[in-house]
Amino acid sequence: MAFISPDRSNLPKATTVIGGAPAKGSGDTHAHVYPATGEVTSEIRMSDASDVDKAVAAAQAAFPEWRAMTGDKRRDLMFKLAALIEARADEMTPLLTYENGSILLAGPHMSADAAQKFRYFGGWADKIEGRAIETWGGPAHDYVRYEPYGVVGVIVPWNGPLFAATMVLAPALAAGNCVVLKAPENAPYSLMKLVELIGEAGFPPGVVNLVTGGGDVGAAMVSHPGIGKIEFIGSGGTAKKILASAADTLKPVGLELGGKSAVIVFGDADLQAAAKRGLTGAVSANGQGCVNGTRLLVERSIYEPYLQMLQAMAGYIKVGDPLAQDTVMGPVISESALNRIQSMVEGGVSDGARVVVGGERMGGDHEAGYFLPITVLADVSPDSHIARNEVFGPVLVVTPFDSEEEAIALANDSDYGLGAYIHTTNLARAHRVANRMMAGQVQVNGSGEAMTPCVPFGGMKHSGHGRLGGIEGLREFQQVRNVWINLQD
Ligand code: NAD
Repeated sequence: MAFISPDRSNLPKATTVIGGAPAKGSGDTHAHVYPATGEVTSEIRMSDASDVDKAVAAAQAAFPEWRAMTGDKRRDLMFKLAALIEARADEMTPLLTYENGSILLAGPHMSADAAQKFRYFGGWADKIEGRAIETWGGPAHDYVRYEPYGVVGVIVPWNGPLFAATMVLAPALAAGNCVVLKAPENAPYSLMKLVELIGEAGFPPGVVNLVTGGGDVGAAMVSHPGIGKIEFIGSGGTAKKILASAADTLKPVGLELGGKSAVIVFGDADLQAAAKRGLTGAVSANGQGCVNGTRLLVERSIYEPYLQMLQAMAGYIKVGDPLAQDTVMGPVISESALNRIQSMVEGGVSDGARVVVGGERMGGDHEAGYFLPITVLADVSPDSHIARNEVFGPVLVVTPFDSEEEAIALANDSDYGLGAYIHTTNLARAHRVANRMMAGQVQVNGSGEAMTPCVPFGGMKHSGHGRLGGIEGLREFQQVRNVWINLQD
Protein backbone atom coordinates (compact mmCIF):
# COMPACT_ATOMS: atom_id res chain seq x y z
CA MET A 1 0.00 0.00 0.00
CA ALA A 2 1.36 3.42 -0.94
CA PHE A 3 2.56 5.63 1.86
CA ILE A 4 0.66 8.80 2.75
CA SER A 5 2.30 11.97 1.42
CA PRO A 6 2.81 15.08 3.55
CA ASP A 7 0.13 17.74 3.18
CA ARG A 8 2.19 20.54 1.69
CA SER A 9 -0.53 23.15 2.14
CA ASN A 10 0.00 23.16 5.90
CA LEU A 11 3.74 23.75 6.03
CA PRO A 12 4.89 26.90 7.81
CA LYS A 13 6.51 29.40 5.45
CA ALA A 14 8.80 31.70 7.45
CA THR A 15 12.36 30.41 7.73
CA THR A 16 13.46 33.49 9.60
CA VAL A 17 11.69 35.45 12.29
CA ILE A 18 13.80 38.45 13.22
CA GLY A 19 12.50 41.08 15.60
CA GLY A 20 9.06 39.46 15.34
CA ALA A 21 8.92 39.73 11.53
CA PRO A 22 8.42 36.44 9.65
CA ALA A 23 10.32 36.26 6.36
CA LYS A 24 12.29 34.00 4.07
CA GLY A 25 16.01 33.62 4.69
CA SER A 26 18.62 35.45 2.60
CA GLY A 27 20.63 32.31 1.85
CA ASP A 28 20.44 29.44 -0.61
CA THR A 29 17.45 27.23 -1.29
CA HIS A 30 17.29 23.77 0.23
CA ALA A 31 15.03 21.01 -1.06
CA HIS A 32 13.68 19.39 2.10
CA VAL A 33 13.15 15.64 1.69
CA TYR A 34 10.53 13.52 3.48
CA PRO A 35 12.51 10.43 4.53
CA ALA A 36 9.60 7.98 4.28
CA THR A 37 9.12 8.47 0.54
CA GLY A 38 12.10 10.48 -0.64
CA GLU A 39 9.80 13.22 -1.96
CA VAL A 40 10.57 16.92 -1.64
CA THR A 41 8.18 18.62 0.80
CA SER A 42 9.21 22.19 -0.06
CA GLU A 43 12.05 24.33 -1.30
CA ILE A 44 13.00 26.30 1.77
CA ARG A 45 14.93 29.52 1.61
CA MET A 46 17.68 29.22 4.22
CA SER A 47 19.34 31.96 6.22
CA ASP A 48 22.88 33.21 5.88
CA ALA A 49 25.38 35.11 8.01
CA SER A 50 23.64 38.44 7.30
CA ASP A 51 20.43 37.02 8.83
CA VAL A 52 22.42 35.91 11.88
CA ASP A 53 23.75 39.48 12.25
CA LYS A 54 20.22 40.87 12.10
CA ALA A 55 18.86 38.24 14.48
CA VAL A 56 21.57 38.96 17.05
CA ALA A 57 20.92 42.71 16.74
CA ALA A 58 17.19 42.13 17.29
CA ALA A 59 17.88 39.94 20.33
CA GLN A 60 20.26 42.52 21.78
CA ALA A 61 17.67 45.25 21.26
CA ALA A 62 14.98 43.17 23.01
CA PHE A 63 17.19 42.14 25.92
CA PRO A 64 16.93 45.21 28.24
CA GLU A 65 13.12 45.06 28.27
CA TRP A 66 13.00 41.26 28.61
CA ARG A 67 15.53 41.24 31.42
CA ALA A 68 13.70 44.04 33.24
CA MET A 69 10.33 42.31 32.91
CA THR A 70 9.35 40.95 36.30
CA GLY A 71 9.39 37.18 36.78
CA ASP A 72 5.62 36.92 37.17
CA LYS A 73 5.11 38.44 33.72
CA ARG A 74 7.70 36.19 32.09
CA ARG A 75 6.00 33.26 33.84
CA ASP A 76 2.59 34.25 32.51
CA LEU A 77 3.88 34.52 28.95
CA MET A 78 5.49 31.09 29.22
CA PHE A 79 2.27 29.59 30.61
CA LYS A 80 0.36 31.22 27.75
CA LEU A 81 2.76 29.67 25.26
CA ALA A 82 2.35 26.26 26.91
CA ALA A 83 -1.44 26.52 26.57
CA LEU A 84 -1.10 27.61 22.93
CA ILE A 85 1.18 24.68 22.10
CA GLU A 86 -1.41 22.32 23.59
CA ALA A 87 -4.33 24.01 21.85
CA ARG A 88 -2.56 23.88 18.49
CA ALA A 89 -1.04 20.41 18.87
CA ASP A 90 -2.99 19.25 15.80
CA GLU A 91 -1.00 21.70 13.68
CA MET A 92 2.32 20.73 15.24
CA THR A 93 1.92 16.94 15.20
CA PRO A 94 2.08 16.28 11.43
CA LEU A 95 5.01 18.68 11.05
CA LEU A 96 7.04 16.53 13.42
CA THR A 97 6.51 13.63 11.02
CA TYR A 98 7.01 15.59 7.80
CA GLU A 99 10.30 17.06 8.94
CA ASN A 100 12.20 13.87 9.84
CA GLY A 101 9.93 10.84 9.47
CA SER A 102 9.22 10.40 13.18
CA ILE A 103 6.00 8.49 13.76
CA LEU A 104 2.69 10.34 13.95
CA LEU A 105 1.86 8.34 17.05
CA ALA A 106 4.63 10.14 18.97
CA GLY A 107 3.56 13.65 17.91
CA PRO A 108 0.98 14.42 20.62
CA HIS A 109 3.46 13.35 23.29
CA MET A 110 6.15 15.62 21.79
CA SER A 111 3.79 18.62 21.77
CA ALA A 112 2.70 17.90 25.34
CA ASP A 113 6.34 17.64 26.40
CA ALA A 114 7.15 21.00 24.80
CA ALA A 115 4.25 22.61 26.65
CA GLN A 116 5.34 21.04 29.94
CA LYS A 117 8.84 22.47 29.58
CA PHE A 118 7.49 26.01 29.24
CA ARG A 119 5.22 25.39 32.19
CA TYR A 120 7.96 23.90 34.36
CA PHE A 121 10.48 26.66 33.65
CA GLY A 122 7.77 29.31 33.66
CA GLY A 123 7.38 28.18 37.26
CA TRP A 124 11.01 29.05 37.89
CA ALA A 125 10.77 32.47 36.22
CA ASP A 126 8.97 33.90 39.26
CA LYS A 127 11.33 32.24 41.75
CA ILE A 128 14.68 33.62 40.68
CA GLU A 129 16.40 34.68 43.84
CA GLY A 130 19.94 35.14 45.06
CA ARG A 131 21.39 34.63 48.53
CA ALA A 132 23.20 36.59 51.23
CA ILE A 133 26.56 35.43 52.58
CA GLU A 134 27.93 36.03 56.07
CA THR A 135 31.23 37.08 54.61
CA TRP A 136 34.55 37.11 56.45
CA GLY A 137 36.34 40.30 57.37
CA GLY A 138 33.15 42.34 57.84
CA PRO A 139 31.20 44.25 58.67
CA ALA A 140 29.92 43.93 55.14
CA HIS A 141 26.80 42.93 53.27
CA ASP A 142 27.57 40.31 50.64
CA TYR A 143 25.09 38.85 48.23
CA VAL A 144 24.86 36.72 45.09
CA ARG A 145 22.64 37.38 42.10
CA TYR A 146 21.91 35.09 39.15
CA GLU A 147 21.98 37.06 35.91
CA PRO A 148 21.13 36.14 32.33
CA TYR A 149 23.89 35.97 29.71
CA GLY A 150 22.12 38.28 27.27
CA VAL A 151 21.74 36.55 23.91
CA VAL A 152 21.90 32.75 23.86
CA GLY A 153 22.53 30.99 20.54
CA VAL A 154 20.73 27.65 20.26
CA ILE A 155 21.86 25.03 17.73
CA VAL A 156 19.94 21.75 17.59
CA PRO A 157 20.02 18.55 15.51
CA TRP A 158 17.41 17.16 13.11
CA ASN A 159 16.47 14.07 15.12
CA GLY A 160 14.20 15.86 17.59
CA PRO A 161 14.36 19.59 16.94
CA LEU A 162 11.29 20.51 19.02
CA PHE A 163 12.40 18.37 21.95
CA ALA A 164 15.95 19.70 21.87
CA ALA A 165 15.08 23.36 21.30
CA THR A 166 12.44 23.55 24.03
CA MET A 167 14.87 21.89 26.44
CA VAL A 168 17.00 25.04 25.96
CA LEU A 169 14.49 27.78 25.21
CA ALA A 170 12.38 27.23 28.32
CA PRO A 171 15.18 27.68 30.89
CA ALA A 172 17.01 30.32 28.83
CA LEU A 173 13.88 32.49 28.61
CA ALA A 174 12.91 31.91 32.24
CA ALA A 175 16.36 33.15 33.26
CA GLY A 176 15.82 36.37 31.26
CA ASN A 177 17.89 35.67 28.14
CA CYS A 178 16.95 36.45 24.57
CA VAL A 179 17.52 33.77 21.96
CA VAL A 180 18.73 33.22 18.42
CA LEU A 181 17.54 29.75 17.47
CA LYS A 182 18.75 27.86 14.42
CA ALA A 183 16.37 25.34 12.89
CA PRO A 184 18.20 22.58 11.01
CA GLU A 185 17.54 22.76 7.28
CA ASN A 186 16.76 19.03 7.09
CA ALA A 187 14.09 19.19 9.83
CA PRO A 188 12.89 22.80 10.09
CA TYR A 189 9.10 22.72 10.35
CA SER A 190 8.38 22.19 14.04
CA LEU A 191 10.66 25.07 15.03
CA MET A 192 9.15 27.35 12.38
CA LYS A 193 5.75 26.56 13.95
CA LEU A 194 7.06 26.99 17.49
CA VAL A 195 8.41 30.47 16.78
CA GLU A 196 5.10 31.37 15.12
CA LEU A 197 3.34 30.35 18.37
CA ILE A 198 5.84 32.29 20.47
CA GLY A 199 4.84 35.41 18.52
CA GLU A 200 1.13 34.65 18.98
CA ALA A 201 1.61 34.14 22.71
CA GLY A 202 2.70 37.79 22.93
CA PHE A 203 6.43 37.54 23.62
CA PRO A 204 8.01 40.90 22.81
CA PRO A 205 9.52 40.99 19.29
CA GLY A 206 13.19 40.01 19.29
CA VAL A 207 13.08 37.86 22.43
CA VAL A 208 13.17 34.71 20.27
CA ASN A 209 14.59 34.98 16.76
CA LEU A 210 14.68 32.18 14.22
CA VAL A 211 17.20 31.43 11.53
CA THR A 212 17.25 28.24 9.44
CA GLY A 213 20.16 26.50 7.83
CA GLY A 214 23.12 24.21 8.10
CA GLY A 215 26.66 24.35 9.44
CA ASP A 216 27.52 27.73 7.91
CA VAL A 217 24.65 29.43 9.75
CA GLY A 218 25.58 27.66 13.00
CA ALA A 219 29.22 28.68 12.53
CA ALA A 220 28.16 32.32 12.04
CA MET A 221 26.32 32.14 15.36
CA VAL A 222 29.27 30.62 17.21
CA SER A 223 31.71 33.27 15.99
CA HIS A 224 29.31 36.16 16.55
CA PRO A 225 30.58 38.52 19.27
CA GLY A 226 27.02 39.53 20.17
CA ILE A 227 26.06 36.05 21.39
CA GLY A 228 26.89 35.53 25.05
CA LYS A 229 26.54 31.77 25.21
CA ILE A 230 26.04 28.89 22.77
CA GLU A 231 24.01 25.85 23.68
CA PHE A 232 24.82 23.10 21.20
CA ILE A 233 23.00 19.80 20.83
CA GLY A 234 24.51 17.53 18.21
CA SER A 235 27.49 15.36 17.40
CA GLY A 236 30.92 15.32 19.02
CA GLY A 237 32.60 16.04 15.68
CA THR A 238 30.70 19.31 15.27
CA ALA A 239 31.21 20.13 18.96
CA LYS A 240 34.99 20.09 18.45
CA LYS A 241 34.71 22.64 15.64
CA ILE A 242 32.40 24.78 17.77
CA LEU A 243 34.77 24.76 20.75
CA ALA A 244 37.68 25.74 18.51
CA SER A 245 35.71 28.61 17.01
CA ALA A 246 34.29 29.74 20.38
CA ALA A 247 37.84 30.19 21.63
CA ASP A 248 38.12 33.36 19.54
CA THR A 249 35.34 35.10 21.43
CA LEU A 250 35.90 33.17 24.70
CA LYS A 251 32.26 32.18 24.52
CA PRO A 252 30.91 29.60 26.97
CA VAL A 253 29.44 26.58 25.18
CA GLY A 254 27.03 24.05 26.65
CA LEU A 255 27.28 20.65 24.96
CA GLU A 256 24.68 17.88 24.70
CA LEU A 257 26.24 15.25 22.47
CA GLY A 258 25.88 11.68 21.36
CA GLY A 259 25.88 8.43 23.26
CA LYS A 260 26.35 4.70 23.20
CA SER A 261 24.30 4.05 26.28
CA ALA A 262 24.65 0.70 28.00
CA VAL A 263 21.68 -1.46 28.98
CA ILE A 264 22.62 -4.01 31.65
CA VAL A 265 20.24 -6.93 31.96
CA PHE A 266 20.91 -9.05 35.04
CA GLY A 267 19.76 -12.65 35.32
CA ASP A 268 17.30 -11.67 38.06
CA ALA A 269 15.47 -9.12 35.82
CA ASP A 270 11.90 -9.42 34.63
CA LEU A 271 13.00 -10.81 31.29
CA GLN A 272 9.96 -9.86 29.24
CA ALA A 273 9.91 -6.28 30.49
CA ALA A 274 13.67 -5.99 29.97
CA ALA A 275 13.37 -7.26 26.40
CA LYS A 276 10.51 -4.87 25.60
CA ARG A 277 12.45 -1.99 27.08
CA GLY A 278 15.65 -3.16 25.41
CA LEU A 279 13.96 -2.86 22.01
CA THR A 280 13.10 0.81 22.61
CA GLY A 281 16.80 1.51 22.07
CA ALA A 282 16.24 0.60 18.42
CA VAL A 283 12.71 1.95 18.07
CA SER A 284 12.68 5.28 19.87
CA ALA A 285 13.10 8.18 17.41
CA ASN A 286 13.47 5.52 14.68
CA GLY A 287 16.70 4.48 16.36
CA GLN A 288 18.05 8.03 16.21
CA GLY A 289 17.81 9.13 19.83
CA CYS A 290 20.93 10.42 21.57
CA VAL A 291 20.15 8.58 24.80
CA ASN A 292 18.78 5.37 23.28
CA GLY A 293 20.14 2.29 25.03
CA THR A 294 21.90 0.63 22.13
CA ARG A 295 24.66 -1.37 23.84
CA LEU A 296 23.02 -4.32 25.55
CA LEU A 297 25.02 -6.24 28.16
CA VAL A 298 23.21 -9.42 29.14
CA GLU A 299 24.10 -11.88 31.90
CA ARG A 300 25.19 -15.13 30.32
CA SER A 301 22.64 -17.24 32.27
CA ILE A 302 19.79 -15.56 30.34
CA TYR A 303 21.68 -14.55 27.19
CA GLU A 304 20.08 -16.87 24.62
CA PRO A 305 16.49 -16.63 25.99
CA TYR A 306 16.86 -12.85 26.01
CA LEU A 307 18.03 -12.79 22.39
CA GLN A 308 15.13 -15.05 21.39
CA MET A 309 12.73 -12.70 23.10
CA LEU A 310 14.19 -9.65 21.32
CA GLN A 311 13.86 -11.46 18.01
CA ALA A 312 10.26 -12.49 18.64
CA MET A 313 9.19 -9.05 19.87
CA ALA A 314 10.91 -7.28 16.96
CA GLY A 315 8.57 -9.19 14.65
CA TYR A 316 5.55 -7.46 16.19
CA ILE A 317 6.82 -3.94 15.62
CA LYS A 318 5.31 -2.36 12.56
CA VAL A 319 7.96 -0.51 10.59
CA GLY A 320 6.64 1.64 7.80
CA ASP A 321 4.55 4.66 6.91
CA PRO A 322 5.11 7.15 9.75
CA LEU A 323 1.81 8.87 8.92
CA ALA A 324 -0.17 5.65 9.49
CA GLN A 325 -1.69 5.54 12.97
CA ASP A 326 -0.46 2.02 13.75
CA THR A 327 3.18 2.45 12.73
CA VAL A 328 5.66 2.09 15.57
CA MET A 329 8.89 2.78 13.72
CA GLY A 330 9.66 4.95 10.71
CA PRO A 331 12.65 5.59 8.44
CA VAL A 332 16.07 7.01 9.17
CA ILE A 333 16.74 10.54 8.04
CA SER A 334 18.42 10.07 4.65
CA GLU A 335 19.86 7.74 2.06
CA SER A 336 23.39 8.58 3.18
CA ALA A 337 22.50 7.85 6.84
CA LEU A 338 21.04 4.50 5.77
CA ASN A 339 24.19 3.63 3.81
CA ARG A 340 26.39 4.60 6.76
CA ILE A 341 24.31 2.48 9.17
CA GLN A 342 24.36 -0.52 6.84
CA SER A 343 28.09 -0.33 6.41
CA MET A 344 28.51 -0.21 10.22
CA VAL A 345 26.34 -3.33 10.50
CA GLU A 346 28.42 -5.07 7.82
CA GLY A 347 31.56 -4.04 9.70
CA GLY A 348 30.12 -5.51 12.89
CA VAL A 349 29.40 -8.80 11.14
CA SER A 350 32.88 -8.99 9.68
CA ASP A 351 34.20 -8.33 13.20
CA GLY A 352 32.41 -11.52 14.32
CA ALA A 353 28.88 -10.42 15.29
CA ARG A 354 25.89 -12.69 14.66
CA VAL A 355 22.74 -11.17 13.09
CA VAL A 356 19.77 -12.10 15.30
CA VAL A 357 17.24 -10.10 13.32
CA GLY A 358 17.21 -7.39 10.63
CA GLY A 359 20.26 -6.00 8.90
CA GLU A 360 18.92 -5.52 5.36
CA ARG A 361 17.30 -2.43 3.85
CA MET A 362 13.55 -2.87 3.45
CA GLY A 363 12.21 -3.22 -0.08
CA GLY A 364 8.71 -3.21 -1.61
CA ASP A 365 6.56 -0.30 -0.39
CA HIS A 366 9.46 0.84 1.75
CA GLU A 367 11.94 1.08 -1.06
CA ALA A 368 11.55 4.77 -1.89
CA GLY A 369 12.20 5.72 1.73
CA TYR A 370 15.13 5.05 4.03
CA PHE A 371 14.03 2.03 6.03
CA LEU A 372 16.08 -0.43 8.01
CA PRO A 373 14.22 -2.89 10.25
CA ILE A 374 15.14 -3.39 13.89
CA THR A 375 18.56 -4.93 13.73
CA VAL A 376 20.03 -6.92 16.60
CA LEU A 377 23.63 -8.10 16.53
CA ALA A 378 24.74 -10.61 19.15
CA ASP A 379 28.19 -11.78 20.33
CA VAL A 380 29.53 -8.30 19.66
CA SER A 381 33.08 -7.80 20.83
CA PRO A 382 33.30 -4.81 23.20
CA ASP A 383 36.35 -3.64 21.27
CA SER A 384 34.73 -3.69 17.84
CA HIS A 385 33.94 -0.49 15.96
CA ILE A 386 30.18 -1.01 16.19
CA ALA A 387 30.36 -1.51 19.97
CA ARG A 388 32.32 1.68 20.52
CA ASN A 389 30.66 4.13 18.11
CA GLU A 390 27.24 5.70 17.86
CA VAL A 391 25.30 4.11 14.98
CA PHE A 392 22.34 6.51 15.10
CA GLY A 393 20.00 3.98 13.55
CA PRO A 394 17.79 1.09 14.73
CA VAL A 395 20.69 -1.19 15.64
CA LEU A 396 21.32 -2.92 18.97
CA VAL A 397 24.58 -4.63 19.82
CA VAL A 398 24.52 -7.37 22.46
CA THR A 399 27.40 -8.75 24.53
CA PRO A 400 27.25 -11.33 27.33
CA PHE A 401 28.78 -10.86 30.80
CA ASP A 402 29.41 -13.18 33.74
CA SER A 403 29.50 -10.98 36.85
CA GLU A 404 28.26 -7.66 38.22
CA GLU A 405 31.82 -6.35 38.25
CA GLU A 406 32.29 -7.25 34.60
CA ALA A 407 28.97 -5.63 33.65
CA ILE A 408 30.00 -2.38 35.32
CA ALA A 409 33.42 -2.44 33.66
CA LEU A 410 31.91 -3.10 30.22
CA ALA A 411 29.23 -0.41 30.66
CA ASN A 412 31.83 2.20 31.60
CA ASP A 413 34.29 1.15 28.91
CA SER A 414 33.07 3.77 26.46
CA ASP A 415 34.11 7.25 25.35
CA TYR A 416 30.47 8.23 25.85
CA GLY A 417 28.55 8.76 29.07
CA LEU A 418 25.01 9.95 28.33
CA GLY A 419 22.58 7.30 29.61
CA ALA A 420 22.74 3.93 31.34
CA TYR A 421 19.92 1.46 31.91
CA ILE A 422 19.87 -1.31 34.51
CA HIS A 423 17.38 -4.17 34.63
CA THR A 424 17.25 -6.02 37.91
CA THR A 425 14.78 -6.93 40.65
CA ASN A 426 17.49 -6.70 43.31
CA LEU A 427 17.15 -3.31 45.04
CA ALA A 428 20.61 -3.29 46.59
CA ARG A 429 22.18 -4.17 43.26
CA ALA A 430 20.16 -1.44 41.51
CA HIS A 431 21.65 1.26 43.77
CA ARG A 432 25.10 -0.31 43.84
CA VAL A 433 25.39 -0.44 40.07
CA ALA A 434 23.59 2.86 39.37
CA ASN A 435 26.10 4.70 41.53
CA ARG A 436 29.02 3.34 39.58
CA MET A 437 27.73 4.27 36.12
CA MET A 438 29.78 6.94 34.36
CA ALA A 439 26.66 8.39 32.75
CA GLY A 440 24.63 11.55 33.24
CA GLN A 441 21.33 9.73 33.53
CA VAL A 442 20.79 6.24 34.93
CA GLN A 443 17.44 4.49 34.69
CA VAL A 444 16.60 1.35 36.60
CA ASN A 445 13.91 -0.81 35.00
CA GLY A 446 13.10 2.05 32.67
CA SER A 447 13.64 3.07 29.07
CA GLY A 448 13.06 6.77 28.71
CA GLU A 449 10.53 7.73 31.36
CA ALA A 450 13.15 9.80 33.19
CA MET A 451 13.23 12.40 30.40
CA THR A 452 10.94 14.95 32.00
CA PRO A 453 11.58 18.70 32.32
CA CYS A 454 12.05 18.52 36.09
CA VAL A 455 15.20 16.38 36.09
CA PRO A 456 18.71 17.32 34.94
CA PHE A 457 19.72 15.70 31.66
CA GLY A 458 23.19 15.70 30.13
CA GLY A 459 26.34 13.77 29.57
CA MET A 460 29.67 12.82 31.01
CA LYS A 461 32.86 12.24 29.00
CA HIS A 462 32.35 12.66 25.22
CA SER A 463 28.60 12.99 25.68
CA GLY A 464 29.03 16.59 26.75
CA HIS A 465 28.75 18.72 29.83
CA GLY A 466 26.21 21.01 31.40
CA ARG A 467 22.66 19.99 32.20
CA LEU A 468 19.26 20.78 30.72
CA GLY A 469 16.19 20.25 32.90
CA GLY A 470 15.58 20.87 36.58
CA ILE A 471 17.19 23.70 38.55
CA GLU A 472 20.51 22.69 36.96
CA GLY A 473 18.97 23.55 33.59
CA LEU A 474 18.05 27.03 34.81
CA ARG A 475 21.56 27.60 36.21
CA GLU A 476 22.97 26.71 32.78
CA PHE A 477 21.62 30.03 31.49
CA GLN A 478 22.52 32.19 34.45
CA GLN A 479 25.84 33.73 35.36
CA VAL A 480 26.74 34.61 38.90
CA ARG A 481 27.42 38.07 40.26
CA ASN A 482 28.70 38.52 43.80
CA VAL A 483 28.26 41.97 45.41
CA TRP A 484 30.18 43.07 48.52
CA ILE A 485 29.16 46.24 50.33
CA ASN A 486 31.30 47.78 53.03
CA LEU A 487 29.19 48.47 56.11
CA GLN A 488 31.89 50.46 57.92
CA ASP A 489 31.51 54.24 58.20
P1 NAD B 1 25.48 17.54 13.82
O1 NAD B 1 26.56 17.77 14.82
O2 NAD B 1 25.88 17.18 12.43
O3 NAD B 1 24.59 18.86 13.68
C1 NAD B 1 23.95 19.46 14.77
C2 NAD B 1 23.67 20.91 14.46
O4 NAD B 1 24.91 21.60 14.33
C3 NAD B 1 22.92 21.13 13.15
O5 NAD B 1 21.95 22.13 13.38
C4 NAD B 1 24.00 21.62 12.20
O6 NAD B 1 23.50 22.46 11.19
C5 NAD B 1 24.90 22.39 13.14
N1 NAD B 1 26.28 22.55 12.69
C6 NAD B 1 26.99 21.78 11.83
N2 NAD B 1 28.25 22.26 11.70
C7 NAD B 1 28.33 23.34 12.49
C8 NAD B 1 29.40 24.26 12.80
N3 NAD B 1 30.60 24.14 12.27
N4 NAD B 1 29.14 25.24 13.68
C9 NAD B 1 27.92 25.36 14.26
N5 NAD B 1 26.88 24.55 14.00
C10 NAD B 1 27.09 23.54 13.13
O7 NAD B 1 24.52 16.47 14.45
P2 NAD B 1 23.23 15.83 13.79
O8 NAD B 1 23.66 14.80 12.80
O9 NAD B 1 22.31 16.91 13.33
O10 NAD B 1 22.58 15.15 15.08
C11 NAD B 1 22.92 13.90 15.54
C12 NAD B 1 23.81 14.00 16.76
O11 NAD B 1 23.21 14.78 17.79
C13 NAD B 1 24.02 12.62 17.38
O12 NAD B 1 25.36 12.48 17.76
C14 NAD B 1 23.11 12.66 18.59
O13 NAD B 1 23.45 11.74 19.58
C15 NAD B 1 23.24 14.07 19.02
N6 NAD B 1 22.13 14.47 19.91
C16 NAD B 1 22.36 14.73 21.23
C17 NAD B 1 21.31 15.08 22.09
C18 NAD B 1 21.53 15.32 23.57
O14 NAD B 1 20.65 15.90 24.20
N7 NAD B 1 22.62 14.88 24.17
C19 NAD B 1 20.02 15.18 21.58
C20 NAD B 1 19.82 14.91 20.24
C21 NAD B 1 20.88 14.57 19.41
